[in-house]
Amino acid sequence: MNINLEKKSSKGILVYFEFFENKIHPVSFELLGEAYRLSEKSNEPVYVVAIGKNVKVIKNALKGYPVKSAYFYETDNYFQPDIYEKGVSDCINKIKPSTVLIGGTAEGRALAPRLAVLYKTGLTADCTELDIDENGNLVQIRPAFGGNIMAKIVTENTRPQFATVREKVMKPIKPVFSYDIEYIIGNINNAKSYMKVINIEKEDTDENSITDSKILVVAGRGVKKKEDLNMLRELAMLLGGKFASSRALVEKGWTTPKEQIGLSGNTVCPEIMITFGVSGTVQFMAGMKTTPNIIAVNTDANARIFEIAHYPICADLYDIVPELIKNLKA
Ligand SMILES: Cc1cc2nc3c(=O)[nH]c(=O)nc-3n(C[C@H](O)[C@H](O)[C@H](O)COP(=O)(O)OP(=O)(O)OC[C@H]3O[C@@H](n4cnc5c(N)ncnc54)[C@H](O)[C@@H]3O)c2cc1C
Repeated sequence: MNINLEKKSSKGILVYFEFFENKIHPVSFELLGEAYRLSEKSNEPVYVVAIGKNVKVIKNALKGYPVKSAYFYETDNYFQPDIYEKGVSDCINKIKPSTVLIGGTAEGRALAPRLAVLYKTGLTADCTELDIDENGNLVQIRPAFGGNIMAKIVTENTRPQFATVREKVMKPIKPVFSYDIEYIIGNINNAKSYMKVINIEKEDTDENSITDSKILVVAGRGVKKKEDLNMLRELAMLLGGKFASSRALVEKGWTTPKEQIGLSGNTVCPEIMITFGVSGTVQFMAGMKTTPNIIAVNTDANARIFEIAHYPICADLYDIVPELIKNLKA
């Protein structure tokens, strides 16, 4: 069955809240922040939909957020795309939103395309910016053609407009609003899945993950030899942070994909990032540009990283790093 919503009667921004074992995925609050910013511009209400076991616990977490209504669908099933699709589409059919925002997570990537096909409409994956144009369309911005351009994509004629956004790309908002949120309990009890869950294995939490570190020291192709990375790893350790790199060094085999920041690597938002010999390509910046304090060291005064760096330092990393280490040790 394909359904298509009428453009002129579709209104509202719906945020899919990802929820697993009583924990809400942080990307949900980031999407809520972005939905609010967009709703200020388009003058539309913000809605939430969540599906899972014991889903009503979300009620408390939503207090203070600018949400008109929240739709909850209780199910014992862990994420199964066909069952969850039924819940989200039931909600969409009721509220007829113009836009649906979903996290660019494994779950979101399985769910969003199914919904876009169901509604015969457009989906832009891994948006790095969102806006509303003069015709009320959602402008979905993301790197395209290998990152050589930032494409602005609009779904002109069909609704809803589906977009996924990765974690740490958008900023959450503080729950300081006094909205009287309406809670609606939906029903997907009769939804049948054609999938059979054979086993569930939980991911190991990776203590070395660069995504949770408050401080990141990042190496780029400006580093001349693999052994020189040792001084940057040492600096990261002395600062109580972690070491990361651009893809250039992963491609050389000097660092691992787990350490890579960017479009095809990790999206990060530490409190402080110091980059050494990173030029600041679109693909690299797609994974870190919301970082609130960026210190960039580069010998080229025209390096693009300086456009977003809060503390640009035009210098040779081989002069700076040993001095920093010496001072920190002292
Ligand atoms: C589909 C696709 C996906 C991609 N995904 C990613 C991704 O996720 N992450 C990523 O990083 N890249 C990604 N890339 C690759 C990207 O295009 C660049 O190749 C890469 O980001 C360059 O890394 P870099 O800045 O370290 O190197 P370069 O661009 O070569 O920059 C090196 C910089 O070091 C400076 N420098 C040189 N010597 C010194 C010195 N002694 N001291 C200080 N500065 C110095 C130079 O001035 C220069 O600015 C992707 C590419 C494609 C096509």
